[in-house]
Amino acid sequence: MAKARNDVRNNAGAALLPDRVTPFSYGADDESDDHPREECGLVGVVGHPDASSLCYLGLQKLQHRGEEGAGIVAAGGDGKLKSVTGLGLVADVFGDPSRLASLPGPAAIGHHIYFSLPNSVVFSHDVHERRTAFGRALAEESPAPGADVVIPVPDSGFYAALGFSRQSGLEFQQGLIRWHYSGRSFIQPTQASGALAVKLKWAPVRGVIRGKSVVVVDDSLVRGTPSSKIVRLLRDAGAREVHMRIASPPVVGSCLYGIDTPSDGELISNRMDLEGVRREIGSDSLAFLSLDKLHGIYGEEAGDYCDACFSRKYPVLPTLPEPAAEFEEE
Ligand code: SF4
Repeated sequence: MAKARNDVRNNAGAALLPDRVTPFSYGADDESDDHPREECGLVGVVGHPDASSLCYLGLQKLQHRGEEGAGIVAAGGDGKLKSVTGLGLVADVFGDPSRLASLPGPAAIGHHIYFSLPNSVVFSHDVHERRTAFGRALAEESPAPGADVVIPVPDSGFYAALGFSRQSGLEFQQGLIRWHYSGRSFIQPTQASGALAVKLKWAPVRGVIRGKSVVVVDDSLVRGTPSSKIVRLLRDAGAREVHMRIASPPVVGSCLYGIDTPSDGELISNRMDLEGVRREIGSDSLAFLSLDKLHGIYGEEAGDYCDACFSRKYPVLPTLPEPAAEFEEE
């Protein structure tokens, strides 16, 4: 509960909340009450792996002035309730990320792998430390013997490549430079302009790559299109061999919880086996971090996380709309 503005109908922000988030209020329409109104804004989220975070966002949307206090109560899998409350604005109460992370409920592993900034603390873990650990585990599981150098796909693969380098002893180098200002084009690319766009987004450092056997590390492989372009770019820059290493398991399921992922049919690992994906992207070898190895990093916590995009084990299945009533023709 948070003390927050209760006129939900006039709160444009409420319309932005996902379906399962229900902001509501009381007291606003009571014409007979002519007193200054003491009003609470409430947000409820059911059956979402990131319920506490959505509650936080919902409460923020409902507040409009200096609030007295806010709090979130969450139920864990054991049915026990845990609350975090405090005085001040919602952002004051949950300013320390560990307060939100301490609430029970399944969290999403994808936050550590791709969504969060590396300098954030998510679910009580430093994101950059997790990513480095994924890279170490990947090097343990799928080393690239005989390779000369490890390079990240910038910026997403940076920490995983660092972990791979530390574990394998291979030299870490910046073999690709990412041009941060290319932006997104609203013009449908032709084949030629698409290839040019890749060249503008990533530039190879020829001195690092030429004549070398290169291990390229990225955080994930979803459609596969950028990976195939990067492999071609590295070969054109003189790489002798290109070994692609992905610091997460193959993405085989679309996210049902609001993360914008391609449909199942567009996920390359859903359409092809490992060898098929390798051939498609054109690398000399390809390996993913296995789900077991990923779980090993989380230890006993592993079961608390949603990993459905890798396992297709969705913690909460979507509620399908009621089928339309059938009409009998007269
Ligand atoms: S399916 Fe994947 S992206 Fe979606 S919430 Fe679960 S871990 Fe995150």
